[in-house]
Amino acid sequence: MSADVMSADVVIVGAGSAGCVLAEKLSRAPGRHVVLLERGPGRWPGPEERDLRRLPIGDHAPYAVRHTTDLDGLTAARGCAIGGSSAVNGGYFLRWHPEDFADWPDSWGLDAIDAAYSELDGGGGGGTMSVSPVSDDELGDAGRAFERYWSARTAVRSLRDRWPVVGVNRVLGNRSGMLRRTAAEAYLDQALDRPNLRVVPDCEVRRLEVAGRRRVTGVHTERFTVRAGEVVLAGGTLGTAQLLLASDLESLGGAAFLAAGEHRGLAVSYRRKEPAEPGMVLPTVLHTDDGLEIRCYRDDFATYIDGLPRSGSMVEVTAMHRSPVRLVAGDERVRLEFGEPSAEAAAAMRAGADEVVEMLHSSEFAGIVVPDSVSVAAVPGFSQHAWGTMPMGVRTDALGAVHGTEGLRIVDGSILPTGGRSGPHATIMMVAVHIGNRLSDTG
Ligand SMILES: Cc1cc2nc3c(=O)[nH]c(=O)nc-3n(C[C@H](O)[C@H](O)[C@H](O)COP(=O)(O)OP(=O)(O)OC[C@H]3O[C@@H](n4cnc5c(N)ncnc54)[C@H](O)[C@@H]3O)c2cc1C
Repeated sequence: MSADVMSADVVIVGAGSAGCVLAEKLSRAPGRHVVLLERGPGRWPGPEERDLRRLPIGDHAPYAVRHTTDLDGLTAARGCAIGGSSAVNGGYFLRWHPEDFADWPDSWGLDAIDAAYSELDGGGGGGTMSVSPVSDDELGDAGRAFERYWSARTAVRSLRDRWPVVGVNRVLGNRSGMLRRTAAEAYLDQALDRPNLRVVPDCEVRRLEVAGRRRVTGVHTERFTVRAGEVVLAGGTLGTAQLLLASDLESLGGAAFLAAGEHRGLAVSYRRKEPAEPGMVLPTVLHTDDGLEIRCYRDDFATYIDGLPRSGSMVEVTAMHRSPVRLVAGDERVRLEFGEPSAEAAAAMRAGADEVVEMLHSSEFAGIVVPDSVSVAAVPGFSQHAWGTMPMGVRTDALGAVHGTEGLRIVDGSILPTGGRSGPHATIMMVAVHIGNRLSDTG
């Protein structure tokens, strides 16, 4: 084998939320040689970057990349690090609602889903991701007012419940105190000494090596090629889409873009009378029966992200229905092109924003909000959540093996077959835990 060709049983592309889980689980069998390729730097994010009082995705951020979009002035950020987006995200780690899995492939029963979540969150606290709820002291004044307002009107999840409810859901964080716990610390760290696992940072995969348009035999990076019995794409929905579109696969039929889902959100902004206390960006949310997640952010995002102009504190009315976004192939990274939000999402957001305006004018918020400073955004923004380009049960099997292409599996946000009513992080890791366990049993 020449120096610029490496071989492995499995090559995993991307050491992110899902990739770190898979690398640990697949390398448990000492005879299976696993290579994990990551475009981000070899130095792991330190305490400064993992501080949950910051989102390290701003100007000159060392562990993030940005994708252009067609929404004025908005870009999409993603982690570019050992740990991937788990190294830069908001640290909110909520399960989806049990009903959100109704249309998943049959082999994804609720018991298996609960077991995989429980590995991560300990069934409501602890687990590999060291999950704990935001405490009363950590809520901040806006979070306290939000919970007081809604608890008089709807249900409140007990902190002992493992599943979210329609009602108020105090956020659970993956953290040690105020430090984000990343997928790399939770999974990859314990596997680093294994002789059958090789982790290569600073290594961007450019395209897949494909034989006859139907069989993937490895990956090409700028420096070398890795040949493997199986390629597992864990580059995140955006990173994986770029690789799929850059490679000559018959199953994609020469597509110029992949269709994904996003969560669109209407920002209701206000000015504060007094500066907010520092803390986690999102301490508490409301889930409504018409599919909204109403997010009570602690403060102006400019407090969290370097280089962002101030735009006011915010409550965001996010439609957890699937709104469309096209991931269009670029030279290096996909570009996001949004259509209109779905009609269902647009109507729900508008109605939700009216309720939030009323809430911000209530007595609970009187000591916080400057009178007459409340305004609703004209155009909905989006969450950093694009998912579902290669849904399980449609374009892959229930363990992510791509239909019509041998030797290729996808395990990351791309294969979520539906959206859920909470953010995606816990669920993408849950998917990786379940698939990783199944593959390590059979491998
Ligand atoms: C700023 C931000 C805040 C967020 N906050 C929350 C939150 O609080 N709660 C929540 O539920 N969700 C949140 N999310 C979403 C959540 O973090 C992601 O959906 C989840 O981490 C995605 O996991 P993944 O494994 O699919 O991809 P990622 O974790 O993004 O991992 C992909 C990895 O692959 C690497 N990679 C990509 N392409 C290549 C290539 N060609 N070659 C080599 N390596 C490659 C990347 O560098 C990265 O390390 C947030 C996302 C962002 C960006």
